[in-house]
Amino acid sequence: MKKKEIVILAIVVVVLAAVLLLMNVIGGNGQRKLVITIDGQEYQTITLTEETNMHFTVETPDGVNEVVITNGVVDVVSADCHNQVCVDTRPASKVFDKIVCLPHKLILEIVGDNGEVDYQ
Ligand SMILES: [Zn+2]
Repeated sequence: MKKKEIVILAIVVVVLAAVLLLMNVIGGNGQRKLVITIDGQEYQTITLTEETNMHFTVETPDGVNEVVITNGVVDVVSADCHNQVCVDTRPASKVFDKIVCLPHKLILEIVGDNGEVDYQ
């Protein structure tokens, strides 16, 4: 095999691996987790399933956000921030979905369970 062919083969293998990884992350079969961070610090991680139903309040140094999880779908239902962007953001249910409350430096994001999600 010529050197050029080996390089092309290597590229194909890398691309295939990347595609498989991406499918694994996005695919609905993998477990999902809700990661809550405040000012860059991890606050809480919750494993999401179709049966996850929770209602809780996240207290940040800048204010509070009321979070409701219904059948694994995450929504911020109320907050005392001034812009209410987090409340207006549509509910998060899929990997890569994210709800951000900038005034509270709060991020709720859904990640895949394999810990490979590092897209920031
Ligand atoms: Zn907010």
